[in-house]
Amino acid sequence: MKKKILLDLDDVICEPGYLTLINKFLNTNYTLDDFDTYYLDDIIEDEEEKIKLNHFYLKHNLYDYAKVLPNAYDIMEKLSEKYDIYICSACIPVLLKEKSGRCFVDKYNYLINNFPFLEPEKFIFTNSKNIIKADVQIDDRLSNLRNDTKIRLLFTSYHNKNISDEYLKEVGVIRVNNWLEVADILLN
Ligand SMILES: [Mg+2]
Repeated sequence: MKKKILLDLDDVICEPGYLTLINKFLNTNYTLDDFDTYYLDDIIEDEEEKIKLNHFYLKHNLYDYAKVLPNAYDIMEKLSEKYDIYICSACIPVLLKEKSGRCFVDKYNYLINNFPFLEPEKFIFTNSKNIIKADVQIDDRLSNLRNDTKIRLLFTSYHNKNISDEYLKEVGVIRVNNWLEVADILLN
């Protein structure tokens, strides 16, 4: 039986369109290095403005602006021969839960149209990722990795750079900075 990988989409397989859209909305030129919290919206202090931004996001398909991270496609394809890949991705924007339907559709279509080797039957769309157990989990958010999964890989991203190696060691999580490092651990 193949081992199971729980694989996150946003900021692991691809960079979704949040940055492009927040720059459009604010008429700015931010790069991801300008952010150090998970929600890019945190750069806006005014709550009403934040909600307006979230409505703006929902007028777009985030994945029209997505960029696949270097080597992700090829290494995922190789991984899919050795492992069962379960895409595990959150779809509910915290500020506009009642309008989150299009996030599920856009994510689903992006995955099936761009990664033909993935099996849609193995897509899991949930914000409660930490309750699911697999053999391997890859995510950029440490809170999603708080479970009993044996091999837990934290994919380096703008918002998790400051988590120390000591702390990760303490909680049994391994940092990976790119897909080649994922391949080193899972394919060799
Ligand atoms: Mg993510």
